Parts: sequence; C-alpha cells; structure tokens
Amino acid sequence: MKIILEKSKCIGCGSCVAVCGKFFELGVDGLATIKGGADKDGSVELEVSVADCASEAAEICPVQAIKIE
Ligand code: SF4
Repeated sequence: MKIILEKSKCIGCGSCVAVCGKFFELGVDGLATIKGGADKDGSVELEVSVADCASEAAEICPVQAIKIE
C-alpha cells in the first residue's frame, strides 16, 4: 500500500508528526513531508507494507491531505 501526502493542501499544523513521527516530519518549508518518500506531481508518496500510525495521521489531518491507498 501507499501513503500519499498532498503537499498543496497541507497547512503545516504538525498533527501528523505528533501522532506518527515514524512516517511524517515537517520540512524546511514548514509543511509536512513523508520520511524517505518520493516527490510526485506535487505529492509525496511512500510504499509501505503496513500503514501503521499513518492511518491515524490521515484521520487527524484537518485538511485531508493524507491518503492511504
Ligand atoms: Fe499538514 Fe495535515 Fe500534517 Fe497538518 S496533519 S501538517 S495539515 S499533512
């Protein structure tokens, strides 16, 4: 499965980092990014075998910038 972060939606609230520091961090631009993720068309994606806490991050994100596919 894949964790996808739509950077254009992110408002840099830091909630995803708080609940899931394993996968998310705030970048120098103040917006969230996925650790080890690949940039693709304005999004950051990471293939994972288990979504783990990324599911919580997707639920808690106030602007629905995180998706698990
Ligand atoms: Fe950005 Fe959503 Fe993470 Fe907040 S929870 S930093 S809006 S991706």
